[in-house]
Amino acid sequence: MNTLIVACPSCKTKNKMVAIKQHRNPRCGKCGISLPMAGYAVPVALTDQDASQVIREADLPLMLDFYSPSCGPCRTLAPIIDKMAHQFFSRVIIAKIDTSLNQLSAGKYGIRGVPTLIFFKNGQVVDQIIGALPEDALIAKLNNFIRT
Ligand SMILES: [Zn+2]
Repeated sequence: MNTLIVACPSCKTKNKMVAIKQHRNPRCGKCGISLPMAGYAVPVALTDQDASQVIREADLPLMLDFYSPSCGPCRTLAPIIDKMAHQFFSRVIIAKIDTSLNQLSAGKYGIRGVPTLIFFKNGQVVDQIIGALPEDALIAKLNNFIRT
């Protein structure tokens, strides 16, 4: 899993955390204040080693982007996924997984082409979208995903 570094606005300590921790009300390791995550949110980069556990234990709805670095539409979608991590922070866990390196997970979820977006609630697949989609369509989809 990827990590991120969040500077404490109070004591200036740079807090390093694994990406899933950003969704668990992180506190500064030194002074203990609740860290404001605005501006820091990133997609959680999953691997075959941690994907099942993260999906199973997610306490928010989770969207997982199955992508490959060699796929053009995936590269088009990537900055939109990054943006969604900010826009839907604390409402949806935005995650991604590189299928070229994590073929077990791709197989487990029956991924036949990339990009594929899979939507999970309580560890269960509730929807999926195959292929890239424009930003406004993805925002509408995520808003609907939260509501239903
Ligand atoms: Zn601090």
